[in-house]
Amino acid sequence: SIPLGFFGGIGAASKTGILVKGSNYLEALNNVKYVVFDKTGTLTKGAFKVTSINPAAELSEDELLEYAAFAELHSTHPIAESIKVAYGKEIKEDQLDGYNEISGHGIQVNVQGKEVLAGNIKLMNKYGIEAPNESGTVIHVAIEKKYAGFIIISDEIKDDSAKAVRSLKELGIKKIVMLTGDAKAVGDSVGKQLGIDEVHAELLPQHKVEEIEKLMQSKSPKEKIIFVGDGINDTPVLARADVGIAMGGLGSDAAIEAADIVIMTDEPSKISTAIRIAKRTRRIVW
Ligand code: ADP
Ligand code: MG
Repeated sequence: SIPLGFFGGIGAASKTGILVKGSNYLEALNNVKYVVFDKTGTLTKGAFKVTSINPAAELSEDELLEYAAFAELHSTHPIAESIKVAYGKEIKEDQLDGYNEISGHGIQVNVQGKEVLAGNIKLMNKYGIEAPNESGTVIHVAIEKKYAGFIIISDEIKDDSAKAVRSLKELGIKKIVMLTGDAKAVGDSVGKQLGIDEVHAELLPQHKVEEIEKLMQSKSPKEKIIFVGDGINDTPVLARADVGIAMGGLGSDAAIEAADIVIMTDEPSKISTAIRIAKRTRRIVW
């Protein structure tokens, strides 16, 4: 039987917008050694804005943005949303075919019969297309395998994220890690601003699972790892960690489903709130 105190704990958590899917997860929060964060949508707002459009010689800025927007039509990734918002015009579905979203890379699709690639440098490399090494979150575009230019976008750190990291350190968490598929320069900059101990960037979704596996091996079974994420890409990592926590507002349905705890307010500082509730609950139960 489950001690009554746990229900009190789960209830207290839910009043502050933290949904705990079982008393075992609340109990696990008493022994957290590492907290691992995803970046985009978790520590940052996931609301990118286009900051520059840099077409190759034969295209205009409008044309480059148009190709990128067409390519991103079917994607719900925060990057895709920013491109579509910047374009601002209606896109006709019937101009597209053969849509292919390549996880951690970008998009391949035929636009008016021409093959368009839109994504990061890894996507360009995959198709043997040379692209400049730009810093920041960059979407490179190629048309019919010919390099067509790049668009730079930028995201903002959530107001709450610095407090989230600080309060976890105050609770004695040994190490705070950030995993991201985004560029190294972007990851390092966010990590530095927030005081995160370790940053791993340019990761494919399977690499995020590998990083969690490594951390799992560097602790005793009693010690627990939290992973906090928001995207469809994060589902395997949420499942692998001892406690998977998803952002309930910004998060994808798949991430919310896979998580053990859901933060309805999207505030990462609610993780330390949950840990404090767990500690208080334990005092009542035992
Ligand atoms: P994160 O770890 O920041 O949540 P993802 O794993 O979702 O990032 O994506 C990693 C990288 O893959 C992105 O930073 C981007 O370079 C590229 N990418 C993913 N989806 C898209 C897309 N729809 N359009 C362009 N690039 C994309
Ligand atoms: Mg994400």
